[in-house]
Amino acid sequence: MVRGAAKEQARQKAQKKAEAMKGGESQLKARAEGLKIICPSCKIAMPGYKILVQHMESKHPSAAIPAESSFAK
Ligand SMILES: [Zn+2]
Repeated sequence: MVRGAAKEQARQKAQKKAEAMKGGESQLKARAEGLKIICPSCKIAMPGYKILVQHMESKHPSAAIPAESSFAK
């Protein structure tokens, strides 16, 4: 009956919430690992901002080096 359905719904809701929390955690991790510094000139992914700066200074000396904060997303 209705009562049982409500209980089941609440249980599913709680489960979804728990899964969402877990998912949020792994999403954060994925975001940190997926942080890619990409050269705006040749679109090559760099392992770090410092390496991008070195790369831009040697390969694209006339191009503006984007701020590190522009990659922190
Ligand atoms: Zn480049």
